[in-house]
Amino acid sequence: MKKRNCPICGKETFFQQGSERNPFFPFCSQRCRWVDLGHWLDGAYRIPAEESPSKEESESEKEGSEAE
Ligand SMILES: [Zn+2]
Repeated sequence: MKKRNCPICGKETFFQQGSERNPFFPFCSQRCRWVDLGHWLDGAYRIPAEESPSKEESESEKEGSEAE
């Protein structure tokens, strides 16, 4: 029997359990399958690049604007 660990939650998941096939294999459930899909969409699977803390800079920029 094919057995794997869910790449999302690490739970043991089977390709086939009894007479039922796991349609979400290698994930344990639809939820984990969606989580994985979400990761791809978020780009979370990209190699983590240098995260430059430029957030503060852009915020202070906003503060100093005198639009009115
Ligand atoms: Zn899972």
